[in-house]
Amino acid sequence: MDTFVYEIDGKLYINLTNRCSNDCEFCVRNGKDSYYGNKLWLSKEPTAEEVLALIPDFGYSEVVFCGFGEPTFKMKEVSAIGKELKKRGFFVRINTNGQGNLINGRDITEELVAAVDKVNVSLNAGDRDKYYEICRPVFGEDAFDAILDFASLCKDRGIITEFSIVDVLSEKDKEKCEEIAERLGIRLRIRKYIQDS
Ligand code: SF4
Repeated sequence: MDTFVYEIDGKLYINLTNRCSNDCEFCVRNGKDSYYGNKLWLSKEPTAEEVLALIPDFGYSEVVFCGFGEPTFKMKEVSAIGKELKKRGFFVRINTNGQGNLINGRDITEELVAAVDKVNVSLNAGDRDKYYEICRPVFGEDAFDAILDFASLCKDRGIITEFSIVDVLSEKDKEKCEEIAERLGIRLRIRKYIQDS
């Protein structure tokens, strides 16, 4: 049975798709079929209604779009689900690779304002060459600059916006990420690399 919604540490996560525009060498799904015991490979993508039917009205402070894929591939569903959850009083976050504008071929950040309270953008690298090398984006070497633009637009539209990197980056790369975050006025969170789940 497909896992459209799963729980970790008291937060509810929504798994909308397995599609991604990257092929990161450190991806948590590489060679795995589950994440903290949740089987996140999907045989079909859910509708907004199917997801909403699985979310209880109470018991969770935060709902997060985050699964075995890039949620902005499902922008229609992100909008519909996010708007409804915000109406119900949930704090809504999306974890994204920041390529949503490239994926959708338009600026999705205005739609995100209505659908989420917070955007977490995986920065992953301190410059475009390194990003291209380790994340292998289908959009090529320009993906990195598009990610920075996307994060800036989210911030400018008033969404709480955060970059994240994993703690296995070199000190030099971390410094470059810190410089970017400071220049754009976006908080940088350094999170632990999850090796096995
Ligand atoms: S962007 Fe995220 S889901 Fe996509 S390949 Fe990279 S780590 Fe995996």
